[in-house]
Amino acid sequence: MEFSIENLKQKLCDREYKLTPQRRIIMEMFTNNQEKHLSAEDVYGMIKQNNPEIGLATVYRTLDLFAELDILQKIDFGDGRSRYEFYTDDVHHHHHLICLECGKVMEFADDLLESLESAIEEKIRFKIIDHQLKFYGYCEKCHK
Ligand SMILES: [Zn+2]
Ligand SMILES: [Zn+2]
Ligand SMILES: [Zn+2]
Repeated sequence: MEFSIENLKQKLCDREYKLTPQRRIIMEMFTNNQEKHLSAEDVYGMIKQNNPEIGLATVYRTLDLFAELDILQKIDFGDGRSRYEFYTDDVHHHHHLICLECGKVMEFADDLLESLESAIEEKIRFKIIDHQLKFYGYCEKCHK
């Protein structure tokens, strides 16, 4: 699903929240940087120059709210910062690649775990509905 400001407005409105200018600006960082997995610090760094009135605490609170409303999904890559991406129902089918040098997070879109999943389901009768796979290493730029 594509997220838009309209979409956000609706979700906020359903829960009796307003689309404040701060919330709009923070949301735009995500719609404009869809391929990135931004942390609160990243968002703060991107907006502070043009919006000095928005503090880091506001960014934290707003991201928590967006996560609560299933607009964003919080992911922990083990580097001490929570990062966020758009919430989708089919996260199952993408894996994350985390560069240990520059911190960049990339996605690998194919699942490719189907045979492992069916082996697990068959052997121990465990019904798999989701998994999270994180690969740690060096991106093309950093491993040269
Ligand atoms: Zn890198
Ligand atoms: Zn992702
Ligand atoms: Zn899978």
